[in-house]
Formats: sequence, structure tokens, C-alpha cells
Amino acid sequence: MRLIRFGSPGQEKPGIETQAGNRLDCSGFGEDWNELFFETDGLTRLQEYLSSHKDSLPSIPNDIRLGSPIGRPSKIICVGLNYSLHAKESGMEVPKEPVLFMKASSSLTGPFDEIIIPRESHKTDWEVELAVVIGKKASYVSKEKAMDYVAGYTIHNDVSERDFQLNRGGQWVKGKSNDTFAPIGPYLVTKEDIPDPHSLRLWLSLNGEIMQDSNTSDLVFDIPELVSYISQFMSLFPGDVISTGTPSGVGMGLNPPKYLKAGDVVELGIEGLGVSKQEVIGYDDKLRIM
Ligand code: ZN
Repeated sequence: MRLIRFGSPGQEKPGIETQAGNRLDCSGFGEDWNELFFETDGLTRLQEYLSSHKDSLPSIPNDIRLGSPIGRPSKIICVGLNYSLHAKESGMEVPKEPVLFMKASSSLTGPFDEIIIPRESHKTDWEVELAVVIGKKASYVSKEKAMDYVAGYTIHNDVSERDFQLNRGGQWVKGKSNDTFAPIGPYLVTKEDIPDPHSLRLWLSLNGEIMQDSNTSDLVFDIPELVSYISQFMSLFPGDVISTGTPSGVGMGLNPPKYLKAGDVVELGIEGLGVSKQEVIGYDDKLRIM
């Protein structure tokens, strides 16, 4: 199943996308794709609803805006340096234990929305990542049981301001949390439709030029390890997002480094999870269109 949310920012309605790419309105189901939905076995209930209602659901025009496929989660937790070549380009060691950092859930945005370069930013960068969405509350789960807690997968561009992240003191959260820094989607693909999440090609292009091109088989810490590991430090709630880290090819790692500027177009995709695309605008441009 592919879950989508569509409509104006903050007023998204739930829907699904069929394998053929048709988008269907699931407002009649009466729930948003959020923590409560996942917590109450919503995926099974939705499947049952669809088996009797699929043919009568209104279709959604393809030009309507998509929001994040999940309602704002309790947290977005990210894994740093989880591809060895990316650790190298960042001038850092491959860590012995997963590096974790938080990203403000207010940074969540739609998969085709603009990325706004923050005020005073000169180093806004891109990061294609496989995002795992949690399906039920996970606390102290074992690696062996960890996949039972996964609802599905989607694409996350872990947009990062390198100066805020690395040179402004304290934690990476400062460079990860600006508004629009977490485009997620186009859809959430449920777990059963991705038999092996550890062999998916993931790529990102900037203005049509491929910058990142790797495979989730290169993850240092795989999904069961991450879910289990994170759950030793905090409870993961249904709908929470774990972003599993980015491969090499970010702007910071280039010689000379290259960062996003207004007018740039970033496109990113993961095998089986679709493609998202964001145009970059300056903070002042944002004020003009509001
Ligand atoms: Zn990242």
C-alpha cells in the first residue's frame, strides 16, 4: 500500500496511490495517517476498508499538492555517518555506535514543496535518505523483533545547514531543523511491499546532475540494528521517523564545496519509493509569496 496526504499545508487529507499511479481520496475512512492511526492498527483497518470501498473512492487530480505522507510525528530522529564513504567525505571516522541526532518536527514539509534557504545561510546542503516509519510503540526491542515495529518506508531529504550544524556550537540539531528542511514523501510504502529494504538504490540530482548514487546495502548499521539501538534510549512512537543516514555526494564533501542557491532544483529517489523534487528559494522570496 502507498499512503499519501494531499491538499493545502496543514489541511492535508488522507489518500492512497495505486500501483498504477492513480491517487484516491480516503477522507471517507475518517482518519489521518498519524500516530493514533498507526497505534490503533490503522494499516490493517485501512486494508479492510479498501477491499470494500476501493472502487467508489473519489480520484484526486494529479496536480494537487502532496503533503508529507504522515501527519507531523512526535519526533524525527536521524542517524549520522551511516555510510562509510560519507563519513570519509565529512572528514570523520565511521562510528562504533550509531550517531543520533534530532530534527525538529516543525521542519516537515511536502515532497514537492520549496526548500527555503534560512536567513543568514550560505551552506544549505542536500542529503537523500531512506526514512523508516514506526508502526507501534517500541521500547527496548531486540534486533530480532525490531522489524515488527516498522510500518513502512519513504524518502527524506535531510536538508542541512553546515555552518549552523558544525560551527555554531552544541548539537547538530541547529543545522537540521529550519522550516522546510524535511521534505518527506511522495508516499509511505508499507513494509510488505518492500521485501528487502537493504538493497534499494538511492540517488539525488542537483539541476539534473547526479550528485549522490548509492544503495542501502551500504548502510553501516541496518534497520533492525537502528530500531533496536534507538529504543534503548527512548520510546519510538507510532508514526515516528528514523532517517537512516545519507551516502556520499553531499555538497560539503565536494572540492570545492557546493551549496544550494535560489533557483536550484533537487530531485531524489529510492527504488520502490518513488521520486520527490524540490525547488530552492531564498528566505526573502518566501516573504514575497506569502
Ligand atoms: Zn542525514
